[in-house]
Amino acid sequence: MNPQNAIHRGRFAPSPTGRMHLGNVYCALLSYLSVKSKGGEWVLRIEDLDPQRSKQEYARWIEDDLQWLGLDWDEGGSKSGQYAPYYQSQRSDYYASLFKTIEAQTYPCFCRRADLLAASAPHASDGRVLYAGTCKILSAEEIKERMKKQNPAIRLQMPHQMVAFTDGLYGDQCVDLQAFYGDFVLRRTDGTYAYQLAVVADDAAMHITEVVRGNDLLSSTPAQLYLYQLLGLQAPTFTHVPLLMSSKSGERLSKRDGSLSMEALRQRGANPEQIIGMLAHKVGLLPHEEPISAKDLIPLYNVNKLSKDNITVYSE
Ligand code: GLU
Repeated sequence: MNPQNAIHRGRFAPSPTGRMHLGNVYCALLSYLSVKSKGGEWVLRIEDLDPQRSKQEYARWIEDDLQWLGLDWDEGGSKSGQYAPYYQSQRSDYYASLFKTIEAQTYPCFCRRADLLAASAPHASDGRVLYAGTCKILSAEEIKERMKKQNPAIRLQMPHQMVAFTDGLYGDQCVDLQAFYGDFVLRRTDGTYAYQLAVVADDAAMHITEVVRGNDLLSSTPAQLYLYQLLGLQAPTFTHVPLLMSSKSGERLSKRDGSLSMEALRQRGANPEQIIGMLAHKVGLLPHEEPISAKDLIPLYNVNKLSKDNITVYSE
């Protein structure tokens, strides 16, 4: 997928909705190690698309924690770089320009959340509600009338098309776009662009050649690959990594696992090399748990050593 001579570029793309926890640090570490082990560049992109939940203060803490951990990024965040700005909240004109190029394959949707749930939409096997296509058949006249009263969301028409790709860790994946996603929202009623569009737009614009992220996003990748194809953009390679799970909730580590937030860890006197060594051991990069810096771990990184199973960590 990548031109042979391209510079390897990876990225960490956190949402600044709280202080980082161990799970975020772990994703950052693996993305850093993967690209640095190839001599590449690592970009920090702040995914602050959601104006209600994102806070500038948290973006500052993300940088502070990454610095403290010795995870040095080359560009992005508050650092300059040739693809600035690195804050998604400042990139909406760019999303709008890309959106225009595929607008013919979208349609306005006036359904409210309650309508969506009430409609007898087919449910995906994992409980997601697929859009039933209610607004797909509205006439131009009806659309005009409804526009007067309500701002619509904009949905992308998904074809019955198989998308296949090979994940760097989980191997071959294949999905029928319409059956798996239904027609999904590209632009919300408040005019903000959906994550799926923004992430594709930005990874392409920032010349990202490899995406390394949690396996919770494995199922988003075919939709993103379809967007790359529609927009005529070069797609990166994808490697999804196992998640850190909370011993307390049995679920993916989250902000609720307060004892594993960077704030709590730093207050308890943990040091960066202990944290990095512990994570490296848990994911299979080190045979024993021992302190090590992120930099010293670079030559030891090998995707084939990584565990595919999610990893439980002790959380209070
Ligand atoms: N901003 C997303 C998150 O924090 C990550 C997106 C990605 O890595 O593609 O979950």
